[in-house]
Amino acid sequence: MRFNLYLFDLDNSLLYIPDPPSYFDNILVETIKSFTIKEIPSREERNKFWNSGEDYMVLLQKWGIKLKEGELFWRKFDANDFEKRRILIADNKITLFLDVLNVLNKLKAAGKKLALVSNTAKYIVNYVIKEFKLENYFHDIFALGYGIEQEIAKPSPKGISLILKNLGFNPNKSSAIMIGDSKIDIIAAKRANINACLLKRNLWKFSETVDAWEYQPDFIIENLEEIFTL
Ligand SMILES: [Mg+2]
Repeated sequence: MRFNLYLFDLDNSLLYIPDPPSYFDNILVETIKSFTIKEIPSREERNKFWNSGEDYMVLLQKWGIKLKEGELFWRKFDANDFEKRRILIADNKITLFLDVLNVLNKLKAAGKKLALVSNTAKYIVNYVIKEFKLENYFHDIFALGYGIEQEIAKPSPKGISLILKNLGFNPNKSSAIMIGDSKIDIIAAKRANINACLLKRNLWKFSETVDAWEYQPDFIIENLEEIFTL
């Protein structure tokens, strides 16, 4: 437990979502359908969306969604996500991973600072926090609003930098680590100059290997409990 500040991604890191690729792709399709577009892009084309980073709007425009509809796109996307999540949480199909509470309790007891950095909408993150009674663990939470906030989403380092600033983080005196299940978590952490830990979970699968990533994680773990060994 040598780090002072632990930053966590939420979806698929702390929060188990069954079959995430399908879950998010269904939401994407539903959202695209609510706009006047010629045809639904292929799955292969849709998969590019998740790795498009700051260029996601280029892809949306290619599909026929106008630049001025960018914010409306996210509002509709989030509304679809929220509706699905509420049902799956109520049915106990979306849950915390089994190791989460134990790990958060141990970190809290050790006096560590904890934060969340999520690309999910703020109101959805707040709902998840409340449903799973996580209110007393995190010193700060970064999640997305509307307007310019899509541009500061991970892989941008800005969300992490904002948390570091809010918590008075001094890199000369303390150390921070970001733990997340995806490439964008690693990119954001390394661009913010903090340690990056890839949490593979059992369901983690990538078509490309981690070795090929431009930004490399400092640590790779399978389960959250392993952060105590870093
Ligand atoms: Mg994630």
